[in-house]
Amino acid sequence: MAGNWQEILLQTVHEEHCEVFFNEPLARHTSFRIGGPADALVIVRSRSGLSGVWTIAQKYGVNITVIGRGTNVLISEQGLRGIVVKLQGEFCRIELRDNQIYAGAGVLLDEIADFAESHGFSGAEFLAGIPGTIGGGLMSNAGAYGRSLGDIVQQVEVMDNQGIIKLLNRGVLRNQYRESLLPAGSWALSVILKLQQGRAKSCQEIRSERRQKHPSEPSAGSFFKNPATVPAGKLIEQCGLKGIELGGAAVSHQHGNFIVNRGGARFVDVYELVQIIKATVEEMTGIELDEEVRILPPAGSAGDRR
Ligand SMILES: Cc1cc2nc3c(=O)[nH]c(=O)nc-3n(C[C@H](O)[C@H](O)[C@H](O)COP(=O)(O)OP(=O)(O)OC[C@H]3O[C@@H](n4cnc5c(N)ncnc54)[C@H](O)[C@@H]3O)c2cc1C
Repeated sequence: MAGNWQEILLQTVHEEHCEVFFNEPLARHTSFRIGGPADALVIVRSRSGLSGVWTIAQKYGVNITVIGRGTNVLISEQGLRGIVVKLQGEFCRIELRDNQIYAGAGVLLDEIADFAESHGFSGAEFLAGIPGTIGGGLMSNAGAYGRSLGDIVQQVEVMDNQGIIKLLNRGVLRNQYRESLLPAGSWALSVILKLQQGRAKSCQEIRSERRQKHPSEPSAGSFFKNPATVPAGKLIEQCGLKGIELGGAAVSHQHGNFIVNRGGARFVDVYELVQIIKATVEEMTGIELDEEVRILPPAGSAGDRR
């Protein structure tokens, strides 16, 4: 039983200059515009605030989840039990440190691309136009144009599953296609990125290329990871699945790997459409598609009713 964790949370939030919203619809915090309520959504602005909220969750046995901009998640209509944390304030700082870029976990990937470009660095332009935060990006080794965060991350500051804050150097991070760079259960607090001086393709150019390729309706970007042999979008198209609809969800006509919310899509519409796509692609090609988007709550955890 959670006891009166909400009251204690309110007190901590007040002392730590955080903000809390009880019963907050997560659809407001996801690019899919789908997701039921979080018992408590807390905007955390400092490491001490984060430790305070984390300690309450541990003490009262309350689930705790961190999200960024919600651009790589599909959240069920039941929402998320316990506390959902968003990192702002000092976690949105970006600056040069010893000729490297320091960015808090709440900084947007697109902002990092701009910052790097404006300071004469090349190597981060592939992040232009990706709508999420670097904290969320580390969970999927976000990337584009054949590059990913794992290529440029030098160090990550994490809070581990014991609440201990530590620095992880590049050598201990996994750098695999769309796999988390972080140890399981860790949260990213900040990163150091190493780039070269020089000019590459401009961020503006990349953004406009992306605008032409990607649908503008609400989505979570590419839904599936690309199999080694052929892009997932192409496979989906070859299987005749482009444009299929279920409730308010549809496979985009523009890009086979984008599932879009045409208006009023529910979690179950997207979830079932995903099952249809996976089953059809496997039956027709023998290839098993794997989700890139994170489905929350995770299968089998408290609150999972998929
Ligand atoms: C239109 C569109 C285009 C996109 N294009 C691309 C693309 O080109 N390449 C690409 O790789 N992705 C792309 N994405 C997906 C997405 O933008 C990236 O994966 C992004 O990095 C996710 O960041 P976020 O802040 O939105 O994370 P969220 O969606 O909020 O969270 C994603 C996961 O990370 C976890 N998480 C969030 N913050 C932290 C943290 N600080 N520490 C630990 N875990 C955390 C969450 O619990 C969740 O499991 C696209 C999405 C959209 C909507």
